Parts: sequence; structure tokens; C-alpha cells
Amino acid sequence: MLKNNKSGIPQNKGEKPSFDEPYNEREKATLIDEILELKAKRNAVILAHNYVRGELQDIADFAGDSLELSIKAKENAAPVIAFCGVLFMAQTAKILSPKSTVLLPDKHAGCPMADGVTAAQVAAYRQANPNTKLIAYVNTTAQVKAHVDMCVTSGNADRIVAALTQSKNDDATTSDDATTSNDMMFLPDRNLGANLNAQLNKNKHNRHMKLWNGCCPIHDQLTAADAKRAKDAHPDAIFLVHPECKPEVCDIADYALSTAGIIRFVAKSDAKAFIIGTESGIIHRLIKDNPTKTFYMTKPELICRDMRGMNLIHLRDALLYNQHIIEVEESISKKALLPIDRMLNLSR
Ligand code: SF4
Repeated sequence: MLKNNKSGIPQNKGEKPSFDEPYNEREKATLIDEILELKAKRNAVILAHNYVRGELQDIADFAGDSLELSIKAKENAAPVIAFCGVLFMAQTAKILSPKSTVLLPDKHAGCPMADGVTAAQVAAYRQANPNTKLIAYVNTTAQVKAHVDMCVTSGNADRIVAALTQSKNDDATTSDDATTSNDMMFLPDRNLGANLNAQLNKNKHNRHMKLWNGCCPIHDQLTAADAKRAKDAHPDAIFLVHPECKPEVCDIADYALSTAGIIRFVAKSDAKAFIIGTESGIIHRLIKDNPTKTFYMTKPELICRDMRGMNLIHLRDALLYNQHIIEVEESISKKALLPIDRMLNLSR
């Protein structure tokens, strides 16, 4: 293993991350040099989610949302993937690139929404409801994915659920049973699920998914009052939110889009100002790509501590000390790959 800690900045020994500025500009530049050297030596690829610290997004080979990162992980043949995101994302990368060593630089980076549903709960639900299709948001652990029929991300959920619904409606011409409305369970995000149900109704699909009672504690904080206040303060701005927000918040916004959808929308739009209702890490990319446009956060304190705890020291240490290696048990990986692959096939 390489041991060239040139900067002298000590190894992170697994302490819980601090949210104070972890380095000054000179240390940051040295860490970036170290990371680039280690990345080249190890032939590693760095993937970063749109919510992580800006300097991690900047040094990454690719920054994107869960769907884009899943596709990159699948396409990737690099021996080492350093995944700047949270555990369920790194697990998905490992499932899709089983021969790569997948590193999660901050071992504390989990996801409270993903951790809110367990494999045992899903297995019990499946046993009690054998005819119900289980549709899981990709924000679930590998162990949970191993029990479901299909995965979706916020970037493709509407298309995939509509496609599944359409095939059910087609079946309905020949089967009375297929016309019953509650034969799909969406888990774990009740907000994304409710927003999808609203979309299905709008598009006149005769389906309504049952919803698991989970949520993202970051997006769930946004209230209709917050949304209304932001809209009143900036009436000319286009209001974009993430569909993990409550339905009443999405109703007030102009569009509910995945993080990649928000980034694409802003890049194409002629508008000059936007209100953003999602984790505030996305602002780094929006400003970088659109320096002449103005962005207002619906609530600046929308910060996911799991995403934002990781920094360049964690990434340097991951490449230097080969930590923290993500393993997914083969039997679980095989089962979890099926719903992920179905999702990727339907996303093309
Ligand atoms: S923003 Fe929400 S869904 Fe994303 S990792 Fe943080 S807690 Fe999980």
C-alpha cells in the first residue's frame, strides 16, 4: 500500500466528521495534489454525488445523481472506485462493478431514510402480501433491494412506475384481478411515492401505489409555509424542488425534479433566477455551471450531514490506506442486482 502522506495532514482515524472548515486553502491544494497522484497510481475513478462538498465534486471524474452514478459504476472497469456519497450508493456501485474495489471514504456516511427500512420488514411484508409488487427507491440498502421487484431513482421513477402501471392496465383487459388498484407498494419514501401517485392520477393511469411510511429527514423538513415564503420573496424566480419533498411543497413549486434534472433544467432555461428546494450541496454545481444566474435556497439549512461530513482528507486516506472497502455478500448481491438491472434496462 502507498504511504506517501506528503501534506503531513494526519489520517482521519474514523472520528465522526466535523463540519468546521477542515483545511485552509494551502492544505486543500496539497491534498488535491496528493489525491490526483494516488488516483493515477491506483488507476482509480472518483464518483461524487451532487450533495457532497464542492471540492469533492470538483476532483471527481464524474459528479451526478444516484441514477447517473449507478450507470457510471456499471460502465466502469476501473480497479478502484472511490465513492463520495453514502453507503447505499457505494453498495450499488459494488453490486454493479463486483470486480472493482469500492471505497467509501467516510465510514459514517449512511442514509437515515435507507436505514429506516430493514430487510426483515420487507421480507415480512412480502410474505403477508405475496401478490403485491415491491418497488424500491434506490435509497435502500443492498439487503432490502434483495427482496424487491424493481428499483427506481428520482430521475426515472415516473417513467418506470408509469411503464409498470401501463403493463398492468394492459393486463386489465383480460383479468379482473389486475384492475384492483393497490397491488404495488412503494418504499421507503412516502413523499416521493405520493408525488408519483399524483403524477399517475394526472396522467389518468388507473393505479395507486401503497406507500411505506419513510422519508428523507432533510427534504421532509420543507413545509408549504417555507415554500410559499420563498415564492413570495422571489416571485420572478423559477421554483425547482426535489420530489422527496412533501406533496404540498411540490404543488407550490413549478417543477419537481431529481438533482440531475434540476441541473439540466437550469442549464437549458433562459430564466435568470431560481429558487432551489433540495439539499444545499447542489448549489456548488449550479453556480459553477451558471455563473450569471441567481439561486435562492428555500431553506439554507437543508444540509445532509451524512453527505457533507466527507472531505478531501477522507478521500486522500481512502486512496492511501484502501479504506473503507465495501463488500456485499454474494447471495445478496445476486438478488439485489435483479431489480437494479431491471431499472437500468427501463431507463435506457
Ligand atoms: S439527503 Fe436524505 S436521502 Fe439523501 S443521503 Fe441524506 S438523508 Fe439520505
